Amino acid sequence: MKYYIDLHIHSALSPCAEEEMTPNNIVNMAAVHGLDIIAITDHHTAGNCEAVMHCGMLRDILVVPGMEIETAEEVHLVCLLPDLKQARLLQTYVYAALPQRKNREDILGKQLLFNAADEIIGAESRLLLTAVQFSLEETVRLVRTLGGAAIPAHIDRRANSLLSNLGFIPPDLDFHYLELSAACRVKEFLVLHPHLQAYRFIQSSDAHRLEEMVKCTGSIELEEKSIPCLLNKLNGG
Ligand SMILES: [Zn+2]
Ligand SMILES: [Zn+2]
Repeated sequence: MKYYIDLHIHSALSPCAEEEMTPNNIVNMAAVHGLDIIAITDHHTAGNCEAVMHCGMLRDILVVPGMEIETAEEVHLVCLLPDLKQARLLQTYVYAALPQRKNREDILGKQLLFNAADEIIGAESRLLLTAVQFSLEETVRLVRTLGGAAIPAHIDRRANSLLSNLGFIPPDLDFHYLELSAACRVKEFLVLHPHLQAYRFIQSSDAHRLEEMVKCTGSIELEEKSIPCLLNKLNGG
């Protein structure tokens, strides 16, 4: 069955996202937009996943816990995990691999933690908007060891993407899906990159504000609407 998806959404825990990106606002916007499955992918943290997953359950929207990791090569990866436990485990590893610096709210923005009622329950004080000390390969292996899937993010962009930073998709990393920005035209992209024909593509919003969620038209064929089924497909199953 075809499911409408947006697997790259930032909550207000990402300093670059708007404060309107609360759990209920994200899920309500997903419902209005007719999405079946969304993923919360803040920079280097899964701190708001539980609240959004709770809101999603009430609206019959499957919320996948995840995070966006910037590897040592400054390549962005959307990392999706099978459950909250594994997402928190990944967060523990990632926090240890981040430079131990404090966020500058006044310059970079707030990093807000919410409960499922959209109440602010805290703020993450560590600097999230930076690269981790894991290589691309180490990050992909770690995410897969935790039962998750890693997708090279916005590969059509000129910064922080696998193509912009490395110039190619390393075949030994065995990626099956690549993410394109919502505005990217897949056919035109493939004319420029014919060697990527064998990959499958996902278009996600990478929304940092609510209005950006409506740009997403991504979909995927799955046997059922479940996280194991989605991750299995993303991993080439
Ligand atoms: Zn990114
Ligand atoms: Zn992003």
